[in-house]
Amino acid sequence: MIKNADRIYYGGDYNPDQWDEATIDEDMRLFRKAGINLVTLPVFSWAKLEPSEGVYDFEWLDRLMDKFLENDIKVCLATPTTAQPAWLSKKYPQVLPVDKQGRKRTHGMRVFFCVNSPKYRERAAAIAEQMAKRYQNYPNLVLWHVANEYGTYCYCPTCQEKFRQWLKARYGTVENLNRQWHTCFWGRTVYDFDEIMLPTELNDDYRFNPTVNLDYMRFMTDSTIECFENEARVLRKYTPNVTIQTNISGHIEKLDQFKMTRHMDIAAWDNYPAPGADPSFVAFKHDLMRGLKNGESFMMQEQSPNQQNWQPFSKLKRPGEVRMLSYQAMAHGSDTCLFFQLRQSIAGQEMYHGAVISHAGHENTRTFRECAQLGMELQKIGDAFLGGRTPADTAILFDWDSWWALEYASKRCLPNDDFNYLKKVSRFYKAHYDRNLPVDLLSVEGDFTRYKVIYAPYLYIMKPGLPEKLKDFVEAGGTLVTTTLSGLADENSKAVFGEYPGALREISGIWVEESDPLTKEERNRMVMEGGFLKGAEYSCMYQCDIIHPRGAKVLANYGDDFYKGTPCFTVNDYGAGKVYYLGTEPDSAFLDDLAAALAADAGVRPPYRADAHVELARRINDRNDILFVLNHNKQEASLDLETDRFTDLITGKQVTGVTTISPNDVMVLKKL
Ligand SMILES: [Zn+2]
Repeated sequence: MIKNADRIYYGGDYNPDQWDEATIDEDMRLFRKAGINLVTLPVFSWAKLEPSEGVYDFEWLDRLMDKFLENDIKVCLATPTTAQPAWLSKKYPQVLPVDKQGRKRTHGMRVFFCVNSPKYRERAAAIAEQMAKRYQNYPNLVLWHVANEYGTYCYCPTCQEKFRQWLKARYGTVENLNRQWHTCFWGRTVYDFDEIMLPTELNDDYRFNPTVNLDYMRFMTDSTIECFENEARVLRKYTPNVTIQTNISGHIEKLDQFKMTRHMDIAAWDNYPAPGADPSFVAFKHDLMRGLKNGESFMMQEQSPNQQNWQPFSKLKRPGEVRMLSYQAMAHGSDTCLFFQLRQSIAGQEMYHGAVISHAGHENTRTFRECAQLGMELQKIGDAFLGGRTPADTAILFDWDSWWALEYASKRCLPNDDFNYLKKVSRFYKAHYDRNLPVDLLSVEGDFTRYKVIYAPYLYIMKPGLPEKLKDFVEAGGTLVTTTLSGLADENSKAVFGEYPGALREISGIWVEESDPLTKEERNRMVMEGGFLKGAEYSCMYQCDIIHPRGAKVLANYGDDFYKGTPCFTVNDYGAGKVYYLGTEPDSAFLDDLAAALAADAGVRPPYRADAHVELARRINDRNDILFVLNHNKQEASLDLETDRFTDLITGKQVTGVTTISPNDVMVLKKL
């Protein structure tokens, strides 16, 4: 959690370089009126703070920081290193990235630098040090925010050289690299590390080699961590007690966020759901953020208080929508509620992106009123749920290596390359979310022993030690559910020799002879056979494994095609536990029934009974047990709190028994 936090930080990005003194003074009044207690700045101000190399101008920022102090507004101080000044790109063009097409890019975009550039790192560390020295004793400094939304891949000569060094450190010798990359296929043997190329479009052999791609994505994660650490270590030196983070972009696939967040004091991310997004998909991403640091609270560093700028139709957020999205983030583990941005820019790429203070410039707008209402509510809630954790007996394993291998690195190799890891994994999540069964998103390196049921969908890459961990979990009485495309490859994305599903074969009690991909329109049927959901029939898609049981009990067979009557869903008793194997991708009805049945088997229940589309989530800290109730319905709904008694922290009312909640409304209930 955020060190020394005593309230929910509410506010967001402020870009004062754009505003004159009178506007800034007016903003202080409006911030107070909206209950804003934190600003993030100066994210994009490197050009203003360092107008030429080594010449700094902090006086304007000093004046601003004084105003925040006078107005009791805390500061999340950002190093401005996401947007290097033009003079830097001009003087040192090596800081500019080269894209996958091999094109050297020119100056002009944000997050548009090579994370491996020594010159970029030197100048970034220098300005971070200037800021840290200058503001180390500033009383309202509560957070550091390093750069912004890392994730630019680079293919420049520096990255080429560093990639070779990275491979040398990983594999030791070219002989070992040749073995692990299996370069004898197509005669791609290398004799020296300096013959290895980056996987650009200039080099299709490398671009389509799954192992090279996977290693490149790992390399970019490590390079980005180094780039983050280059600044974070300077900040730590001057302000060891201030929480340091960087905000994870919505494009979370670019970097292994489990690895990234190990270097951050708290996970932080930007929540920009598409208009009309399924609330379960938003909750899924929040829970993934909570999982990054083993269930610790995280920060929602950005969301828009109204429309987002970059979509084909930048729909307005409907009345009450920003409030609902804000409480949903906090219900799932966020200790902050922050916007991009506080005042709407008058020009630039995001000039029509929503803001607390719109171009109208005053408080008489729907957006401002909704933000001010939320600000007042958060003041009432105070620190009630800060640092609170969510108890869960069910986990879904989430693995960036498997994601990368299946969706990017091995795309040209798989029988069916129409693969979207996030969407496919989130379907297992939704089946639980819809029943208010709490789920943790768990790293393969996490602690499995805390859970009764673990889902391991599409767990393609088997890292060393993982098969043993899964086996131990099941032997000790756990229930494991795994699926097609699991267990097939080693950590270097090489197929496991022998029968599929490789390392999962023994515990699942089956072997898979081959897999038949289905086109987007094709479907097969799952005909339930033995005991479990007996008599039911479901539709299935994407891929059909042809399974031979070897000790496992058949629960469903395919209904069509030449493998009609062969198993598609099995269960194997192993030790004190069970392993379910799903050889295909079932429809949502099956996933719902499966989630309900396994939860009942394991004695896992939702906190309370509630109408459909009423979301319940708990956060427990050492002071309080808080229940969030979010009614996503357009009509009144009810829930049964049984004999438990609560205080609604927003209204102050006492609540117990069968309780109703208004359409689109939220309750934050403190258990008495
Ligand atoms: Zn580069």
